[in-house]
Amino acid sequence: MKVLRVVQSFTYLCGVALWIGTASVSALQTPTPATAPVATTVLHCSKLFDSLAGKMWEGETSIVIAGDKIQHVLPGFQNVPNAKIVDLTNQTCLPGLIDDHVHLDDQFSKARYTETLHLNLADHVLRSTLYARRTLLAGFTTVRNVGDDDYDTVALRNEINAGYVEGPRIFTAGPAISTTGGHADRTNGLSMELQGDPGPMQSIIDGPEQARKAVRLHYKEGADLIKAMTSGGVMDLGTNGDGPQMTEDEIKAIIDVAHDYGMTVAVHAHGAEAIRRSVVAGVDSVEHGTFMDAEDIQLMKAHGTFYCPTVYTAVYVTEQAKKGEYPPAVTVKALKVGPQIMHTVAAAYKAGIKFAYGTDAGVYPHGQNWEDFIYLVKDGVPAAYTLQMATINAAQLLKHDNEFGSVTVGKDADVVAVPGNPLNDITVMSKVSFVMKSGVIYKQDGKELLPPNR
Ligand SMILES: [Zn+2]
Repeated sequence: MKVLRVVQSFTYLCGVALWIGTASVSALQTPTPATAPVATTVLHCSKLFDSLAGKMWEGETSIVIAGDKIQHVLPGFQNVPNAKIVDLTNQTCLPGLIDDHVHLDDQFSKARYTETLHLNLADHVLRSTLYARRTLLAGFTTVRNVGDDDYDTVALRNEINAGYVEGPRIFTAGPAISTTGGHADRTNGLSMELQGDPGPMQSIIDGPEQARKAVRLHYKEGADLIKAMTSGGVMDLGTNGDGPQMTEDEIKAIIDVAHDYGMTVAVHAHGAEAIRRSVVAGVDSVEHGTFMDAEDIQLMKAHGTFYCPTVYTAVYVTEQAKKGEYPPAVTVKALKVGPQIMHTVAAAYKAGIKFAYGTDAGVYPHGQNWEDFIYLVKDGVPAAYTLQMATINAAQLLKHDNEFGSVTVGKDADVVAVPGNPLNDITVMSKVSFVMKSGVIYKQDGKELLPPNR
C-alpha cells in the first residue's frame, strides 16, 4: 500500500496524478536481470480496500503482481508489457480474506453424533479437501484451524502447500487440548465400554506436567499453534457448557511452553471465569467469549488479547436447536448462546477490545464464512472494521502480518474482489467473484478456474 498511499497523497495535494502515473510506469519498464521471466498479472480494480488505514480508495487502481508477490500498486488502469490484464473494473478489490477459527476436517449435521461411530480418519481427510476448496472459493485465502482429528489438517496444510490439494493457506493447531471429560474429550454419549478412559493422550491432559508434554507433542507433530478448551462447550454431550474445565496452573503450563516454542495459544472459553484464567495466563486469543463479563473485558484490553467472536455460529446453533437438529443436552446449551453473543460482541467492541475474524466454520457449512460480516454489522460493528478483522487483524493474530493481510508492495499476492462496495452493502461479501492466492487465480467472473486456465 506504500506506493498507493504516496501517489494518492500527491494526487490530492498537488494534482499531479498524471506525472506520478508516468513515473511509476517507466519504473516498471526498467530492464530486469537475465533470469527466468516471472509471470506478471495486472488487476484493474474500481476500488481498493486499504486494510491498514481501514479506508476505501475510490479511484481506479492497478495491482501489479509478479510471480506470487505484489510488485506495485498504482493509480489508474495501467498496462504492463506482456502482462495478463484482469478486468475487475466493476469490482472492489480487497486483500485475501482470513478466517482465524475454522475446523476444515469436520462439518456438523444431525447425523454427526452417530457418524462418529462409522467414520475413519481417512473419511475426515477426504471431506476436508472439499471443505478447503469451498473455503478458498469463498475468498478466504488463509485460515487458522483450531481443532482437528489426529493432526489431519497438518497433512491437509502440507498437501495444499505442495500443490496436491486446493485450499487456503493453513495454520493449524492440530487437535485441541482438553481435560478428561472436557469439551474436546470424547464426551459423545458412548458407553464407558466403548469409550474407555484414554488415559494421558496427546491432547487430553490432567495437570500441568501432562499439559507441557501435550504442547511439546503438538510441536513435534507439526502444529503451528495451540488450541485449548478452558471451558465447557455447546456441541459436546456434557452438561457443563460454560464452566471452567482447566485449572490456572494447567492453562499457564500450556501457554508458557507454547510461547517458548514460538506458538500462539487460542482458548475456547464461553464462561467469565474460564476467560479470566486464560487472559491472566497470557493467552493470545479468546474464542467465543460468550459470557464475558466487565472484568474480562478490562483484562483483555489491558493484556491486548484478541477476541474471535464466532458470532454467526452462535446464532446458527440457536436456530438449529429450535428446529430440533441437536440432541437434548446440546439443545439446552445452544438455546442460550445465540441471544447472548450479540450483547457480548456489542459490549466488547464498544470497550475497544481488538477483534480478529473467526467464524467456527464446520459448526455451520463451510464456504459460508462471510456470514459473520453480516452479523457483526447487524451488531453495530462498522463494516470497515469487520474487513480489517478479516485481513490485517487476523494476520496480526497469526503473527504473519508482514507477509499478508494487506495489498502492500512485497506481500503475498492474495487478492479477492466483490461486485459492489462492502462499506455501503456488507452483503456483497457473500458474492466474492475473484480469488487470487499467492499470485494464482482460482476464481474469476464468479466461476472456478480449473487448470489449464490458471
Ligand atoms: Zn471451534
